[in-house]
Amino acid sequence: MTQMTQASQSTPPVVRFAPSPTGRIHIGNARTALFNYLFARKRGGRFVLRFDDTDLERSRAEYAHAIEADLRWLGIAPDLVVRQSQRFALYDAAMERLRAMGRIYPCYETQDELDRKRKRLIARGLPPVYDRAGLKLSAQERADLEAQGRKPHWRFRLDQEIVEWDDLARGPSRIDCASLSDPVMVREDGAYLYTLPSVVDDVDLGVTHVIRGEDHVTNTAVQIQMFRALSPQGRAPDFAHHNLLAAASGEGLSKRSGSLSLAGLREAGMEALATAALAVLTGSSDNVQPVASLLELADIADVSHASHHAAKFDEAELAALSARTLHALPFAHVRERLAALDVAGPQAEEFWLAVRPNLARLEDVRDWRAIAFGEVSGVVEDAAFLRAAAAVLPPEPWDAATWKTWTEAVKAATGAKGRALFHPLRLALTGRDSGPELAALLPLIGRARAMARLTV
Ligand code: GLU
Repeated sequence: MTQMTQASQSTPPVVRFAPSPTGRIHIGNARTALFNYLFARKRGGRFVLRFDDTDLERSRAEYAHAIEADLRWLGIAPDLVVRQSQRFALYDAAMERLRAMGRIYPCYETQDELDRKRKRLIARGLPPVYDRAGLKLSAQERADLEAQGRKPHWRFRLDQEIVEWDDLARGPSRIDCASLSDPVMVREDGAYLYTLPSVVDDVDLGVTHVIRGEDHVTNTAVQIQMFRALSPQGRAPDFAHHNLLAAASGEGLSKRSGSLSLAGLREAGMEALATAALAVLTGSSDNVQPVASLLELADIADVSHASHHAAKFDEAELAALSARTLHALPFAHVRERLAALDVAGPQAEEFWLAVRPNLARLEDVRDWRAIAFGEVSGVVEDAAFLRAAAAVLPPEPWDAATWKTWTEAVKAATGAKGRALFHPLRLALTGRDSGPELAALLPLIGRARAMARLTV
């Protein structure tokens, strides 16, 4: 039994998010990215974005760019971006070292032959572990196979031992490597599979913590053995495997189906901060509250709190959290996005504070901008009442107290009170029967527009 060597706790952490650029990322990928990013932010560490693009056929530069844009939207700025497709020399050198250590061996079975072997073992009630036939081939047998035109694929020879690690999310973990097949490092067409480049890069980039989804737990024992073989001090990083997000239907998320993609959520008008908060807090908190920044989120969300059950991501919950996030958003944080929606100028902040409690999505400010500053076809139910109200409109300048002064005057002039007083005024001024506090909205509408809307 072997205890893995833990990475030093004192140095600032280095983490990485390692998507393969074969599609757009979804909320589950965002969860992994954020657990890494928040972990590094909180501890003064570094966040590396690593594109696992050794599969040259399926990987696309467009997807890599889109993933960077999705992360930027979430508020994640990587300290370093690397692409595995530019690092093959490192992997070749690592293969050489493993070969020299006797940890790599060629195998010549076709996929069909491997499938048959597997089925025979299963039929006998045995675990379908590769029989290491490749390891037993003599030089002559290998030469004969190659003379027949067979090309080798290369496997890593596992030490048959129990590997243990203290998973930061799942607690003490162990895997018996005797129950695993020696993993394939290089396919017969020469392409690297995920495992070796991942370990080589983690060593080269000084990754101290590997934080990823629990679908990678079974890779960990293999990778720990490889870290021991390849890293300078025979050290493996720490590991944390968080639970995976599922759709509300219970269905797993996939890049290919495009379900719950970040791009889709952004287009639906969801706030990035709300999306980030729910991505990491789903499953560990029943009542997720809005946060004002990723730094604040880093204080409450930690991969070590991720539960062990699949967590269902609820889009309706996101819509509600997104709205509440907007309601608490200070003007300074939204100024530029408002300017892009043509809300700018000296009254922009006052406008923002007046309308934000009524927004479901930021884009809804367009409607309220039109109501405050544009043309409104007000609803007139009782023209005489409105004329009486118009007659007592106070002179400008107007402020937050004007609404009260005015409605008291209208009440005195007409005798109307309560809903009969306020509702017709709201309908005439805004064309809507609900909306922002009129005390806040009225000074923005201003006397000229108010007069026009009351005297149609
Ligand atoms: N490219 C792998 C994935 O997206 C990375 C896994 C890892 O973090 O080691 O699943």
